[in-house]
Amino acid sequence: MKNIILTGIRPTGKLHIGHYIGAVKQVVDIQNAGNYDKFYLMIADSQSLTDNAGNVQKVKDNIIEVALDLLACGVDPEKTCVFIQSEIPALTEMTFYFMNLVTLSRLKRNPTVKEEIKLRGFEESLPMGFLTYPVSQTADILAFDTNLVPAGEDQKPMLEQAREIAKSFNNLYGNTFILPDAIVPNEKSQARLVGTDGKGKMSKSLGNCINLSDSSDTIKQKIMNMYTDPNHIKISDPGKIEGNVVFEYLNAFVQPDSFKKYLPEYENLDQLKSHYKKGGLGDVKIKIFLNNIIQEILQPIREKRKTLEQNIQQVYKILFNGSDTANKVANETLKRMKKSIGINYRDIIKID
Ligand code: ATP
Ligand code: MG
Repeated sequence: MKNIILTGIRPTGKLHIGHYIGAVKQVVDIQNAGNYDKFYLMIADSQSLTDNAGNVQKVKDNIIEVALDLLACGVDPEKTCVFIQSEIPALTEMTFYFMNLVTLSRLKRNPTVKEEIKLRGFEESLPMGFLTYPVSQTADILAFDTNLVPAGEDQKPMLEQAREIAKSFNNLYGNTFILPDAIVPNEKSQARLVGTDGKGKMSKSLGNCINLSDSSDTIKQKIMNMYTDPNHIKISDPGKIEGNVVFEYLNAFVQPDSFKKYLPEYENLDQLKSHYKKGGLGDVKIKIFLNNIIQEILQPIREKRKTLEQNIQQVYKILFNGSDTANKVANETLKRMKKSIGINYRDIIKID
């Protein structure tokens, strides 16, 4: 079987370290290992409009911001086809046919969408496009015969939905689509990185982020203001690890050599945690440690981004070229889909 990989990012804000550790790092690692046949990276502008219909400028402006972030993280346009969703009309047409294979009650059960609806306070004003975005996401995935989708944990229900729709389609109209799988990081704190406020997941729409493009001072400030354990007042007090944002981030980002480099008096994270739990380890010390680790990851990304920012035209060229390539593939899939349904009239009916 071919290995076709696709993932998407919404241009609703600059990328943050949750995207990096949940999705983009996996993308770059797989891309560089080379174990794939095709690699697609979609900037999901149409999906972003489902909850930003009155905020087109934001979505438009963030296409380039997201593209810069992705390229700065090491996405290589020679290896990965980076494209803009709205440039691919076949995706919208495929969505229309897939809509017939999913019920309203099934859409309402999607836990990620449910949570997002609540967060956005939609209630009765819920746009239909937002409720049905998992169907359009199914089209994004199936249009490229994707079998693997690197993503964060919140995307698991989307993949389940895509598989269900693909199965229903294949049952009704004959085998046409591959059933895709998600690749989600095993480490829980990476699969769903919590926001700097410790409340929900780090999310562009909630503004609880450390952005990849933040200055080193901003990063430090955000880390020093992080929520730890409210009962850990004096250094000698015993501290809690659960729900402690600094430890969540250490779980996600610590490297095997981080201790040797920045905190040599400890051997590993378990040792650091048990000292914190016992008492005698201050918040400032663990925050400085985390700051060193995050700065080391983000500094080269920030520098590469600055270079890319010098030539925005070139970045748009990458996106338009990628969109041309993606368009050809999606158009072929749409043809195959219509043939399976039996609405390929011009192939069936020959007029002299
Ligand atoms: P929005 O609030 O507009 O939905 P977002 O921050 O959730 O933005 P997306 O563009 O929806 O970002 O997600 C892009 C990718 O990053 C997806 O694969 C998603 O699972 C992953 N991702 C998003 N947030 C996190 C997070 N906090 N931890 C791990 N992965 C994440
Ligand atoms: Mg999201």
